[in-house]
Amino acid sequence: MACLIMSTTLLLKNCRLVATQNDRRDELRNVDVYIEGARIAAIAPQLSVSAGETIDCQHAVVLPGLVNTHHHLFQVLTRNLPGAQDAKLFDWLIYHYEIWRGITPDAVYTAATCGLAELLLTGCTTSSDHHYLFPRTAGSGLIDEEIRAARELGIRFHPTRGSMSRGRAHGGLPPDDVCQTEDVILRDCRRVIEAYHDPRPFSMCRLSIAPCSPFSVTPELMKETSALARQYGVQLHTHLCETLDEEDYCLRTCGMRPLPYMESVAWIGDDVWYAHGIYLDGAEIARLGHTHTGIAHCPSSNLRLGSGIAPVRALLDAGAPVGLAVDGSASNDASNLLLEARMAMLVQRVKAGVAAMPARDVWWLATRGGAAVLGRDDIGSLEIGKAADLALFDVSGLAYAGAQSDPLAALLFCGFDQRAWMTIVNGRIVVKEKQLVTGDEALIAETANAAAAQLIAQ
Ligand code: ZN
Repeated sequence: MACLIMSTTLLLKNCRLVATQNDRRDELRNVDVYIEGARIAAIAPQLSVSAGETIDCQHAVVLPGLVNTHHHLFQVLTRNLPGAQDAKLFDWLIYHYEIWRGITPDAVYTAATCGLAELLLTGCTTSSDHHYLFPRTAGSGLIDEEIRAARELGIRFHPTRGSMSRGRAHGGLPPDDVCQTEDVILRDCRRVIEAYHDPRPFSMCRLSIAPCSPFSVTPELMKETSALARQYGVQLHTHLCETLDEEDYCLRTCGMRPLPYMESVAWIGDDVWYAHGIYLDGAEIARLGHTHTGIAHCPSSNLRLGSGIAPVRALLDAGAPVGLAVDGSASNDASNLLLEARMAMLVQRVKAGVAAMPARDVWWLATRGGAAVLGRDDIGSLEIGKAADLALFDVSGLAYAGAQSDPLAALLFCGFDQRAWMTIVNGRIVVKEKQLVTGDEALIAETANAAAAQLIAQ
């Protein structure tokens, strides 16, 4: 009998637990997952199908691929610098700007490759990035370099075209030579959207527009970018309510708290998401819920910089979309979404009580929450017809011994092993047996170390 296989097929056999993250949050034991091309075709016990590749998954807990909603990949090259280890946000920024102003297109590509590889290795299948640094010496094309890195590694990517237009000469925080004029910024936003933005289902690349923060761009640029994003139907992203210094700055320069200021420049709604959202009052939390404005929760970075803890429980109760994020690599300093999920579980218990963040709510944030923040309904859950983005964790080892009564929660509660056993993006295996398939890890690390040394020496 002739057998014609129309597209690549993959059968994940006898998965120990599939945490679907569907609307009922079904958890299925000992089932098979059948993947046809880029989509999930079936989830059921003992499927009788023949696939191009069959993998025994009896030791695996299977989750939808994790979603990272905020990053600054270029910062991989300035992780952990002694001069900024103990600085709070504004001092930390001022210190780093002096080094970051030497960034080159090659350095952006190298840093993105390293950070995105780390994300894939911890089960992340979709990542955003907020690139706002465009030194005059680096030319245009920096967003292009990180898109190239994402394509090569095979991660689903949501780059955002960031910007800084208000340098020190105009009362802003960054040096003037890493700021661009508003004409240049808007022109390049249009260019990258037209070149790379793919709005179709299963899209591997979607652009957003992302001025850096209220203290590094002008109100005019905020208004122009919101109009431009709506013209193209792309999302808007920025930092907001990260520190009290930012709140003071907004009160002093605009006479408003950060969120009312953003609303005054048309930056609120279900096409907007903010990183952090720590210093929000009760009315502002309700406003975010009512308008379905998203929040990227970055607990490790917020703790590392001593910024505070976002009111995630309250935001979820108000109906706001909330996702998880590792934030930039100079304030975390890891692109490890598994660690971030554990941190989110722990800090919310301090903020809002021990029952405020159960493990299963954290998994929701890391999958469906992140998908909602990025405006996607084709990822974030394991259901027939959804994109085949999966993170598989082997729970058979020492790290989870004694914890098998609840292997899904064990991934967050136990002293886990940090790597996904397998990561699948759009039906393609990109991490297998805890090793990166689409890149050479040792070479990526070596190249990143050399690029970092060069950047810091400048
Ligand atoms: Zn950030």
